[in-house]
Amino acid sequence: MRQRLVYLSILLAAAAAARAQEQDFNKVEIKTAQLAPDVYLLQGAGGNITAAVGSDGALLVDDSFAPLADKIRAALKGVAGGDKAVRYVINTHYHYDHTQGNLPFIEGGALVIAQDNLRARLASGGTAGNGGTITREIKPVEPQALPQVTFTQEVTVHLSGEDAQAVHYASAHTDGDAIVFFPKANVVAMGDIFVRYGFPFIDINAGGSVQGMIAACEDVLRKAQADAKIVPGHGELAGMADLRTYTQMLKDTTAAVASALRANKTLAQMKQEHILAAWSERYSPPKAFVDTDAFIDTLYNSLNKRVARHGSRPR
Ligand SMILES: [Zn+2]
Repeated sequence: MRQRLVYLSILLAAAAAARAQEQDFNKVEIKTAQLAPDVYLLQGAGGNITAAVGSDGALLVDDSFAPLADKIRAALKGVAGGDKAVRYVINTHYHYDHTQGNLPFIEGGALVIAQDNLRARLASGGTAGNGGTITREIKPVEPQALPQVTFTQEVTVHLSGEDAQAVHYASAHTDGDAIVFFPKANVVAMGDIFVRYGFPFIDINAGGSVQGMIAACEDVLRKAQADAKIVPGHGELAGMADLRTYTQMLKDTTAAVASALRANKTLAQMKQEHILAAWSERYSPPKAFVDTDAFIDTLYNSLNKRVARHGSRPR
């Protein structure tokens, strides 16, 4: 139960759960792992952080929870062997476990960069959810916490010694996602388009879709080198083989739901017939944040959006 509460509060703000977790921030330790000579993975609570540390300052991909900002800075000092200020932050998507650090890092002088839709969603707040049982209200952030620079499709930040290329993928985990490629370091930071906690949460209410998740994963599989280090939004560092397995799961489960739709099965029938049973053991551990039925909801709603757009069922 506790694990489930942590996940719920991590992903989607439930006020009470967030309060309960605040006390835990004191206990959070930031683990660091070196991925390349000047690129690091930082893991504490909330989303994973990828940090590039140049001689002229640091860049973060995502910035976790606001109360952890000082711990993140301290972790960076440890790995860089000096006091490198965070000059840039790239947000991968608007969920607050990836963006709440914007305010303290902006106050510390950083420029926060994000896709246009991400900034709009941070500003407006809204109801995140999978179109089914998972739904949470997200409050608008204060204006000072909004990204100062936005882009539509791509932007590259040139640090000393490392480039960070942020590429937008439409309608994936949300409608404002970016994946960040570090070509020299051979590292890709995927945000919540790729997660390792089980079936992924897809924020369909915020314009996400499984089709977009698959397209984004396939693009990374095409672009990245065979030995690339893949940083998921949550969970341990991965490689291309892990991403390939996950992408295949997304495709196969989507095909199972599409096939049931073609057979005119209702959502309730799909759940009763356990049409994703073959994937449940691996991707829906006990107390999973997105259990098998919630993932059926997610896929069903993703596919039905396509039905609505094109006026016919997917083939
Ligand atoms: Zn997310």
